[in-house]
Amino acid sequence: MLLQLSLLFVLGLLVGSFLNVVAYRLPKGESLVFPGSNCRDCSHALGPLDLIPVLSFLLLYGRCRYCRAPIPWRYPITEIVTGVYFFLAGLTWGFKPILVRQLVCGTILILAAQVDLATLTIPDPLTLGGSVLALFLPPGPHWVYLLGGVTNFLLLSCLTWASHGGIGQGDIKLSLALGLFLGWPFSLVALILAFFFGASVGIVLLLARLKRRNDVVAFGPFLALGGIIAGLWGRDLLELYLTTFWR
Ligand SMILES: [Zn+2]
Repeated sequence: MLLQLSLLFVLGLLVGSFLNVVAYRLPKGESLVFPGSNCRDCSHALGPLDLIPVLSFLLLYGRCRYCRAPIPWRYPITEIVTGVYFFLAGLTWGFKPILVRQLVCGTILILAAQVDLATLTIPDPLTLGGSVLALFLPPGPHWVYLLGGVTNFLLLSCLTWASHGGIGQGDIKLSLALGLFLGWPFSLVALILAFFFGASVGIVLLLARLKRRNDVVAFGPFLALGGIIAGLWGRDLLELYLTTFWR
């Protein structure tokens, strides 16, 4: 089991490394595959030794081998986060077909969070494309997933209408995809967690005077975090809630 989980961790590192490329190119509408990876500053093509997840960053002291331009910290962070997520998903779901669903879900969420942080938008290929994928990944179409998607979509649409645009269209579409992936009631657990994290961080930013009341804060990363936690431990959280408050 530990060997399979370790392989899953390495697979996550590699996927995370690819996500860094996608996060940079997708919003610009560039091809995700051609040309191969190159340095953003000097455009030098990167070789296999420059592309080992996390290790290349450490061995090169976080700088491009060719022009010494700094490599953003979020590259190794995305790789580690994706690797750890893959490991934990394998631990939670075991090596069954449904694990594929969870891995795709987490990958889309991590990517959406990264793009939203950088550009304050979440591209449709991620959210709507993800929604279509969610319908067909194992165990296939089921009313539980549809219900999760529909309720998330309606809840966030109502909140957007009530908050006069505090939440963006991209967030509504991401919550739809999230609901379709997780299914009821974990879709709702994800939303509640997202609002809890969003409000907590918002209050801290306000108190620390890092943001003002009307500043825009990306909500996508909170949705992603809520979705990932609900996907991994939603069942335990619900059980804990029900046994604590409803007994
Ligand atoms: Zn360079």
